[in-house]
Amino acid sequence: MLSRPLLRIALATTGLVLTGVLAGTATAQPASAGAPVFWRVPATSAQVVSLAKAGFDVGESDAGSAYVVGDQAVANRLRALGYQPSFFDTVYKDLPAAAPRAAAADTFYSGYRTVAAQETHLAQVASAHPDLATKYTIGQSWKKTKGQGGHDIQAICLTKKQAGDCTLTTSSPKPKFVLMAQIHARELSTGELAWRWIDYLADSYATDPTAKSILDTTEVWVVPIANPDGVDIVASGGNSPKLQRKNANNTRGGCSGTNIGIDLNRNSTFKWGGDSNSACAETYQGPSAGSEPEVKALEGLFRSIYPAQRGPGNNDPAPVTARGTMITLHSYGNDIIIPWGFSQATSPNDAQYRKLGAKLSASNGYLVGTNAETVGYDTSGTTDDFTYGALGVASVTFEVGGSSGTCGGFLPKYTCVDSTFWPKNKGAFITAAKAAAAPYQQ
Ligand SMILES: [Zn+2]
Repeated sequence: MLSRPLLRIALATTGLVLTGVLAGTATAQPASAGAPVFWRVPATSAQVVSLAKAGFDVGESDAGSAYVVGDQAVANRLRALGYQPSFFDTVYKDLPAAAPRAAAADTFYSGYRTVAAQETHLAQVASAHPDLATKYTIGQSWKKTKGQGGHDIQAICLTKKQAGDCTLTTSSPKPKFVLMAQIHARELSTGELAWRWIDYLADSYATDPTAKSILDTTEVWVVPIANPDGVDIVASGGNSPKLQRKNANNTRGGCSGTNIGIDLNRNSTFKWGGDSNSACAETYQGPSAGSEPEVKALEGLFRSIYPAQRGPGNNDPAPVTARGTMITLHSYGNDIIIPWGFSQATSPNDAQYRKLGAKLSASNGYLVGTNAETVGYDTSGTTDDFTYGALGVASVTFEVGGSSGTCGGFLPKYTCVDSTFWPKNKGAFITAAKAAAAPYQQ
């Protein structure tokens, strides 16, 4: 297993997370006692798992430590269990006093787009570029299925349209790349990256040879907000976004506040069932495989556009002729996570994933590795285990941003999107799109 603390320090010497390292060495807690912060908790990997299953909000872990989100009361609970939490970093990077009121009603926290803004954006792109863009409704959020408001789950397909393109078929001529974001609602930077990727392709087709090349040869699908009910909850906090990760299904476990919901990145149908059964845990997998409508929508889209290309055994590789790439955007950690999630074992396409990962990392500099080599814990029922395991699509998770500092954590300052995250990841998205024709022949 790689040593995460050493890697973080190596990143810091490039200036990327220097302020974060300084913050990480602080011992005092600058925030008020009621505000959530990141607590660094010395813990073994087994303890990290038990903390998450016990309902603590474990934002990240590395060799020897868990980083738990919570207020002073959470720290006291940890101490009562024998742990020794110390202040690591703030959660809110753009404090209310510094954050101007949103300039537009459809943004929050100095610029992050609401679900309504993302929906308007997709409609505008499809309307402005009928030769390039097709908007789809692929399902409904949990609230919408219950008649409680909510949203459609929306996707956009971008390509220079020829006959048969963007028609929800597994046999279309062009290979496909899917980018999806904000399945974990509070991971704010990810939806903004999806927005910029859509605009780059649609607005630059006429002038940028790379954008033209991609859209002439590839179907690019984007699901900018996979968990819109969750994003509504996050945005309802305004300049103090709420830390909702899961969907808005409040029917299980008597949970309250941002503990409600099912973790949509633990609810997928491939190898479901190895994660938390505690309804209020942040990694609650739900009552059954694919129980949540958001997961049904995503899996329905994937099955509509990708043929099943991999055998049923854990050791059956996707063939070298398999097509299709998928990136699911999360934050944070500066990682590119390759399969498997459900197992510490490497996948039968491991060597090919590491070659592809290296090309993606050439743009963003993220650490390429399996769960064991990056975040350090197993994850059952993830989106990328489904698209790789069930369909053979070359699928990776990006963990966008560092663990601390202004551009770190779940709620980075909005200016970090254009100063850091988009410049670093644009090239990686381009690489993933170009790899869609033959991802296992890198
Ligand atoms: Zn996530």
